[in-house]
Amino acid sequence: MLPARFDYHRPETLEEALSLLDQYGEDGKILAGGMSFIPLMKLRFASPGHLVDINRITELSGMTESNGWLRVKSVTRHNQIAGDRLIRERYPAMAAAAPQIADPIVRNLGTIGGSLAHADPAGDWGSVMLALEAEVVSHSSSGERTIPIDGLFESTFTTTLRPNEIITEVRVPMPSARSGGAYLKLERKGGISPPWESPSSLPWTTAASLRLASGSPRSAPGTSRPRRRKRAFGEPSPPRARSPRPPIWPHWPQSR
Ligand SMILES: Cc1cc2nc3c(=O)[nH]c(=O)nc-3n(C[C@H](O)[C@H](O)[C@H](O)COP(=O)(O)OP(=O)(O)OC[C@H]3O[C@@H](n4cnc5c(N)ncnc54)[C@H](O)[C@@H]3O)c2cc1C
Repeated sequence: MLPARFDYHRPETLEEALSLLDQYGEDGKILAGGMSFIPLMKLRFASPGHLVDINRITELSGMTESNGWLRVKSVTRHNQIAGDRLIRERYPAMAAAAPQIADPIVRNLGTIGGSLAHADPAGDWGSVMLALEAEVVSHSSSGERTIPIDGLFESTFTTTLRPNEIITEVRVPMPSARSGGAYLKLERKGGISPPWESPSSLPWTTAASLRLASGSPRSAPGTSRPRRRKRAFGEPSPPRARSPRPPIWPHWPQSR
């Protein structure tokens, strides 16, 4: 099926995109990778009059570490994250999740901001970001807002974002010394059909981020017990389910 008619806008700056969203209100929708939204439009589950394509906004792409945070700009693709050395060395749960998202086409186009804004409970980034206690930074014409990740998801496919708000950045706390993480995707999808076409094949995901209590002078080496920081579930894991690939835990990123 073809999508309903819409006007297509391709702003080059964030300011321009925000002004378009203000102008069109509920009739305007953001287009990032289009991997989830274009199928919805083709099925006529969504029929916006105006699409605001944010792919040309260069300030919305890339990753850096600064002031205690990993800052992943919202239009950063799943594949950029999967191939990034900093992520592989210091953010094991993210490094384990990114290559498991769908297939190469979806990973080349889909974005972290689009994935979180879409709020699909079967999406991989939701569980990872909950486990890592991330924050999302959004912008609208009224300014900037920081939303803790557990304040972003309201319900299935529903977030607390306003229609004129763009996620600009996802912030992940920099790992402390001797911390680690893992990501298990218990049922791998082949990347052929989107999740809503086959609910029984929804992947069940589990992400964990853990930090070892730092050894005090009184604690003997090797006796510090792992302290669980946060554990998030996309869906409850069935007992004794087999992981399609071994978890990468234990993995200790270099301390700084
Ligand atoms: C065949 C297939 C298999 C898939 N398998 C997986 C999988 O295994 N794991 C997984 O996690 N995902 C999977 N996905 C989803 C994929 O990861 C998408 O990339 C992601 O859900 C949406 O990202 P996007 O950039 O394509 O967003 P879009 O489709 O462009 O947008 C999705 C929604 O988010 C809104 N939006 C986008 N960007 C922003 C922003 N910056 N600020 C505010 N709102 C925004 C849009 O308006 C829209 O409502 C799959 C998709 C397909 C088609």
